[in-house]
Amino acid sequence: MIKIKNLMVEVEDKLIINNFNLEVLKGELHVIMGPNGSGKSTLANTIAGHPKYSIKSGNITYKKNLINELSPEERSSLGIFLSLQYPISIPGVKNIYFLKAAINSIRKIKKQNEVDTAEFLKMVRGMLPLVGLDESFLHRSVNDGFSGGEKKRNEILQMLVLEPELSILDETDSGLDIDALKIIANGIKNYRNDNRSFILITHYHRMLDFLSPDYVHILIDGEIALSGGPELAQKLEEKGYSWVKEKKVN
Ligand code: ADP
Ligand code: MG
Repeated sequence: MIKIKNLMVEVEDKLIINNFNLEVLKGELHVIMGPNGSGKSTLANTIAGHPKYSIKSGNITYKKNLINELSPEERSSLGIFLSLQYPISIPGVKNIYFLKAAINSIRKIKKQNEVDTAEFLKMVRGMLPLVGLDESFLHRSVNDGFSGGEKKRNEILQMLVLEPELSILDETDSGLDIDALKIIANGIKNYRNDNRSFILITHYHRMLDFLSPDYVHILIDGEIALSGGPELAQKLEEKGYSWVKEKKVN
C-alpha cells in the first residue's frame, strides 16, 4: 500500500524526520508510538502532503506511484486520509455540506458524477451510530463548539464517508473517555478489511487491545528505534521510553 524509503523531512529548516523507513501492506494496521516531539505528526502530515513539511530526500510510494510531489487533494483522491491530532473548527460551514464537498471533490478528480444529495444524507445518517454522534452534528458548523471527543468522532465519520484505502489516524484516541474509546475503536475495527491499511499514532495500548495491530514501531528523534508486535506497546506502558532510547544509543 505504502512504502517510505530513507525519508528526511524538514519543518522550518529543522530536520525532524531522519532516515525513516516503513512499508505497510494491504490490510495491515501499523502503530507508531513515541515521545512527544519525536516527529509522529510530522510524518503523518508529510504523507498527507502538508505544504509546510518539506521532503529533503527519500521516497513515498503509494500503490506503486511516487507521491512526493502530489498535492493533498490528489493524495486524498488516491485514497489517503489523515485524521488530525488537533481537528480544526470551521465556523459557518455546516458539517454535512463539508462532507459532501469533500466527497464531491474526490469524485471530480476521478471524473465521477456528484453524489445525489438525498442518497448521501441517508448514507451519512446510517454512519452516525457507528461513531456515536446524533444527527444534530450534521447541521452544526464543522467541529465548532464540539468537545474534544466529539471532534475525534467527527474525524472518524469523515473516514467512513470518504472510504480511504490508507487511513492515518493521529492520536484519534487522545482525550477520549473509555466509552468513547470503545466506540471509536469499534468504528475503526468495522471499517478494517483486507484492502484497507492503517497507520495509527497513539500513546496508549488501550486502543491496541481493541484493534490487534500487525506491527508497533517506536519513533525516537524522527527515526524508528524499534519495531515489534503489540507486546511492545505493553512494555512501553510499563517501562516508558527511556529503555528504548538507551538501546538506541548503544
Ligand atoms: P509528535 O507528533 O511526535 O509529538 P511533531 O511531529 O508534532 O511530534 O513535532 C516534531 C518537532 O517538529 C517538534 O519539535 C515540533 O515543534 C516541530 N514541528 C512540527 N510541526 C511544526 C510546524 N508546523 N512548525 C514548526 N515546527 C514544527
Ligand atoms: Mg503529534
